[in-house]
Parts: sequence; C-alpha cells; structure tokens
Amino acid sequence: MAAKDRYAVFGSPIKHSKSPRIHQLFAEQTQQTLEYTAQEVIEERFKMSVATFFKEGGKGLNCTLPLKELAWAYADSTTERADASRAVNTLALQRDGSILGDNTDGCGLIADLMVNNDISLKKKRILILGAGGACRGIIAPILEQSPQHLILANRTPQKARDLAVEFCISGDIEGCGFADLIGKRFDLIINATSASLADDMPPLPEDILAEAGICYDLAYGNRPTTFVRWGIERNASKSLDGLGMLVEQAAEAFYIWRKIKPETKPVIETLNAARRFAL
Ligand code: NDP
Repeated sequence: MAAKDRYAVFGSPIKHSKSPRIHQLFAEQTQQTLEYTAQEVIEERFKMSVATFFKEGGKGLNCTLPLKELAWAYADSTTERADASRAVNTLALQRDGSILGDNTDGCGLIADLMVNNDISLKKKRILILGAGGACRGIIAPILEQSPQHLILANRTPQKARDLAVEFCISGDIEGCGFADLIGKRFDLIINATSASLADDMPPLPEDILAEAGICYDLAYGNRPTTFVRWGIERNASKSLDGLGMLVEQAAEAFYIWRKIKPETKPVIETLNAARRFAL
C-alpha cells in the first residue's frame, strides 16, 4: 500500500488544535488519503523542524502562533497576500522541491463573514481591535470589500498607526488607541486581539456598536468568548466567534495542497455540535 501523503500543523501551544480534526473531516468528505498531525514546535526549532518534515516526505504544513512570521521568512516563494500580511500559515511543497508560502487567514474571515453569515462589508463602518499578526492578515481583504472606513485600535496605539500607514494605499484606514474611540460608532467590530484567550476585553466606550451592529471575535472556544458575550449584551444583531474562519482558512489550505475545495458547512456543523457536547 502506498504511504499516505503527510501534512501537519506546527505551533506552540498546539495540544488543543482543531486542525487535525478539520483536515480529517475534509479528507473523508473528498475521499483523499492523507495524514494530518499536530506538532509542538517552538520558535528556536522552527527551521530545523520544517526542513526535517519536508525532507522526510511531508507535503504541506500549517503554521500557527508564534511561527507565522518565521514561516513567511522561510518560504522560497510567497503569494501576494502572504507578503501583505508578512505572515504565512500554509507551506506547500512544489513540484520542483521548493516551498511556497501562503496566508489563508484573510480569505477565511471574509468567507465566514460574507458566505456563511451573509454579512456585507460594503460602505460599512468597521473597527478592528488589535494590531498583531492576525490583524495584519485581514486588513487588505477587508479593504477590498470597500467599507466606508476602517479603524484599527490597539492597546499600543503606535502599532495601529504604523499598520494604517502601511495599508493606506488600499483604502480609508486610520490607526488609534482605545481612548480615541469615544464618540465613534461602528457597524462591525472585529476583535483581533488575543484578550479573549485570557477572558479579558479591550476597554471600549459603551455606545460604540451601532444599532443592529455586528461583533466578530477571531478567537473561539467551547463557550462564547468574552467579546462575543459583550456583543450579545449590547444587542448585536450577530455576535460570532472565529470557528467558521478557522474552518474556512483550513479549506483554502486544503485546496492549495490537494487542488480540491472541501465543503465547509458540514464541518462547521460537526465542530459546533462537538463543542455543544463538550459543555
Ligand atoms: P498577536 O500576539 O500577534 O497579537 C495580539 C494582539 O492582541 C496585539 O494587538 C495586542 O496588543 C493585543 N492584546 C493582547 N492582550 C490584550 C488585552 N488584554 N487587551 C487588549 N489588547 C490585547 O496575536 P494574533 O494577532 O496572531 O492573534 C490574535 C487573535 O486572533 C488570537 O485570539 C488568535 O487565536 C486569533 N486568531 C484566530 C484565527 C482563526 O482562524 N479564527 C486565525 C488567526 C488568529 P499590543 O500590541 O498592545 O500587545
């Protein structure tokens, strides 16, 4: 019997990663024979671990915290969207033996917002909280949807201002600190901070969410995140977490590797059922 094609996700911490389950469901659905594992890899061991993985016949890797920038630097060639975000979450072995780096986080978010949840970004007033790696990956795809304007607010305001300058050629974008948000209102607030992971919440003015506004937390868990709860308490018309984005970015990575696009809806439903069961 031929050996299974091998894929993996590298990161730290990685124990609770849902990626192996997601790719197993994709493989079953599309009748692909492959193996996908999760491997704890710290920054200091990244280069060696990636080189070993591909040398031993691996076909593709996902990279997550804190390795995305290292993966961008490692790849022999990179896509435009990876360069815009200076981060890579998908490495793919090419026919000539070189390694391509791509970033599927941004299109994963857009697919979850627009396709799965029927949310249009056109002419919307959008706020992104945070200015880290995930924020960097979603700015360009959001600006492509022609919002009215995009504001980035971060705990360290200068990081948000620097990012806004970097992307200002692509649309109406401004960076600031949380205190500068007083008096502003938004149709869509996206939490791209890691605050939810510590059950924390960026300090936001009470009336910042417009009527029928939407909240979206990139973070996810078995229970609603702090930010998702914050949105529900303020009557958001939708208050969503990042599970759908996780599945969508994985589907795009699967497509890069296998050239076949799995259906995401049944996988999201399976994961949602599993987390309801876990409560
Ligand atoms: P980074 O470490 O690169 O950035 C973290 C950001 O959060 C920084 O802007 C930081 O501000 C801010 N921050 C951290 N703690 C707090 C706090 N207590 N209050 C306010 N701001 C805070 O992380 P990433 O950008 O890679 O990830 C951000 C989130 O997105 C994570 O929860 C991650 O799990 C999620 N994510 C989800 C994905 C999905 O598929 N659903 C994909 C990618 C990421 P400062 O600059 O001041 O330090």
